[in-house]
Amino acid sequence: MHDFAVIGLGAIGSATAAELVRRGHSVVGFDRYTPPHTMGSAHSDTRMIREAWYQGSPYVPLVHDACRRWKNLERSSGRTLLRTAGALMMGPEDGRAFAGSPLRGVVRPDTDYVLLSAEEVAERFPWLRPDPGTVTIYEPGAAILSLEACIEATLEAAAGADLRFDEPVLEWSTSASGVRVRTERGDYAARRLAIAAGAWTPQLLPGLSLPLEVERTVQYWFEPAGVHADVLAEGPAWVWELEREGTWYGFPPTARGLKAGMHFQAGRRTDAERVVREVGASEADDLRRLFGRYAPGVAGALAHASVCLYTNTPDEDFILDRHPGHPEVVLFAGGSGHAFKFAPVLGSLMADRLTEEPPSRDPALFSIDRFR
Ligand SMILES: Cc1cc2nc3c(=O)[nH]c(=O)nc-3n(C[C@H](O)[C@H](O)[C@H](O)COP(=O)(O)OP(=O)(O)OC[C@H]3O[C@@H](n4cnc5c(N)ncnc54)[C@H](O)[C@@H]3O)c2cc1C
Repeated sequence: MHDFAVIGLGAIGSATAAELVRRGHSVVGFDRYTPPHTMGSAHSDTRMIREAWYQGSPYVPLVHDACRRWKNLERSSGRTLLRTAGALMMGPEDGRAFAGSPLRGVVRPDTDYVLLSAEEVAERFPWLRPDPGTVTIYEPGAAILSLEACIEATLEAAAGADLRFDEPVLEWSTSASGVRVRTERGDYAARRLAIAAGAWTPQLLPGLSLPLEVERTVQYWFEPAGVHADVLAEGPAWVWELEREGTWYGFPPTARGLKAGMHFQAGRRTDAERVVREVGASEADDLRRLFGRYAPGVAGALAHASVCLYTNTPDEDFILDRHPGHPEVVLFAGGSGHAFKFAPVLGSLMADRLTEEPPSRDPALFSIDRFR
């Protein structure tokens, strides 16, 4: 019998397995595919790790901890995992990002953030054309994580575990002797179980009816174009709230191209089995219009597009807690479009709960009880 079983070896499950192995436990892990794969939430090149967005919330120390852990993994794996490129957070004064939030207050002498007017943005980053009155916080220390390399390095760190890829878990159960996991290939026993199944969580926790919404979102890669094509790669990334069109984001180009997409789009609710994975010919039109208006000339031909899944909670905070009916099961769910950066921290918190070590962070933020 293994000490622990882990269902899902994506962003959080792989980090959980790696941390349990690091603490000397025997682990069996399962994934329905071979991560990093393109079917869930953890694929497509890049993820942002930034801090300004979280000001005034308990996530700030988690960002610091995550950066430290990613850098350690970078050193131990010999891979390049993150690169400082800076990030812009932009929006109208009275929009979702800035109205009533402490964000403007972060621009203090003791922080590295810079508050920029629309004119200053256009001067400093001449490929961007914000509307007059747009508020921008520039965070020069924000970084870009190389997503696939991060997952590969984490799985390498978990190599002491019995990692079983392309082996979907069909069901799990608990008894006085521990947990049993049934897959298409066999039955496995462990003392305790971690579930980190991303967009497939509802299927694995049918009795819990958590308020999770799986959302289809598309990421696009354009060929960098125009006179600024060379400097775009230096950064920054941007997350830009617009009054009518919603929030869009863009990443400094990689070998794959200039990645951009829309953040949270109402009406895209789906599930991991039914989701339309093809991208229609006209789906990039909205984004092209945004580039035309706000970053003219930088997005050339569309090189690639890929469907990705958000799994959202109503408050966009994660769930990381014991299963209310099965204390030997700990689950992570509801990455809500921002969990990747925290993966090594969340993996460590999962391991704390599974091993009953005192949690290194207050678990209240991620409590399942807030939805029950
Ligand atoms: C377009 C997009 C942009 C994003 N941008 C950012 C960003 O800039 N910064 C950031 O921090 N976060 C970002 N996120 C969020 C982040 O990527 C996710 O929150 C994170 O990947 C969630 O991790 P997870 O482990 O819950 O899910 P996943 O990484 O999807 O892993 C779940 C795994 O479980 C496996 N699985 C499911 N069911 C079973 C089963 N029955 N048996 C075995 N295995 C199973 C799946 O195959 C999968 O590998 C973004 C997400 C998207 C979609």
